[in-house]
Amino acid sequence: MSVAIEVAGVTKRYGSLTALDNVSFKVENGEMFGLIGPDGAGKSTLYKILATLTAPDAGSATVCGLDTVKDYSKLRTLIGYMPEKFSLYQDLSVSENLHFFASLFGVSIKDNYDIIAPVFSQLERFPNRKAGALSGGMKQKLALSCALIHRPEILLLDEPTTGVDAVSRSEFWDMLSTLREKRITILVSTSYMDEATRCERIALINKGKILCINTPEGLVAGLDENLYNAVSAHMFELLTRLRELPEVEDCYTFGATLHVVGTKDFNPETVKRKLSEEGLKDVEIFLAKGDIEDLFIKLTRGER
Ligand code: ADP
Repeated sequence: MSVAIEVAGVTKRYGSLTALDNVSFKVENGEMFGLIGPDGAGKSTLYKILATLTAPDAGSATVCGLDTVKDYSKLRTLIGYMPEKFSLYQDLSVSENLHFFASLFGVSIKDNYDIIAPVFSQLERFPNRKAGALSGGMKQKLALSCALIHRPEILLLDEPTTGVDAVSRSEFWDMLSTLREKRITILVSTSYMDEATRCERIALINKGKILCINTPEGLVAGLDENLYNAVSAHMFELLTRLRELPEVEDCYTFGATLHVVGTKDFNPETVKRKLSEEGLKDVEIFLAKGDIEDLFIKLTRGER
């Protein structure tokens, strides 16, 4: 398989802040690759470099074999970039936005309609509605249609589902799967860890550094070992007490429960008894299923 995106030792600074710190990874042709990390991790900075909008301070990046600095002009015709912030003209209608982006690249909507059809079909009912008056999910579909209209080889999607309702988010990922069938390479970022499983491979990124790269299954393999849920009517006290126990390696809030990472000596019954003696009599502890959020917490443990 040939390489679609290659990032090699990229560092980017804003004054004294290092937004990207020696970042390297490769994305294969036709792959759906996810960049997962919290706000401020450096995702948008990386997108701006790949979309040729800014240059790295050190290292280099190539997309479709073209250097993002030296070959920026040619490269811009080969990529479709959907920035994090809504990229469309709010005062232009759905149809006007699409025509505008098609004219930028000198392509006809008719000739390329097949590529946007799965996404755009839901917008066809209101061609004259102003982009600014669309719902979050519809805006996102229009932005994706505009990023696709020139048939890019690579789609760069920077947090496309942020601020979009859960149903639209799920629909959006279904649409991306359709595009993958057309062999478009997709680099997509998100801060929703649950979306990671929709990618073929994922890089976890935090504070400008790549923490690990793997398949979704590979990332969570082995995480269930000694991982437990703990609940009580007194969650804060439970968290504090569990963190004090020698057989607890880590304990953190996880949705409505706590996740407890035990050492090999962790025994739920013994721990419940100890907590009961300290006044916490309603504690329940049961095995938990580890996911990417647990991995992220594990990998950043030293920084907390
Ligand atoms: P993410 O997309 O993961 O939220 P960003 O790439 O936007 O991360 O930001 C990474 C870091 O760089 C953050 O600390 C952010 O405040 C900082 N940053 C981003 N853009 C600029 C800029 N133009 N000037 C100064 N700091 C910036």
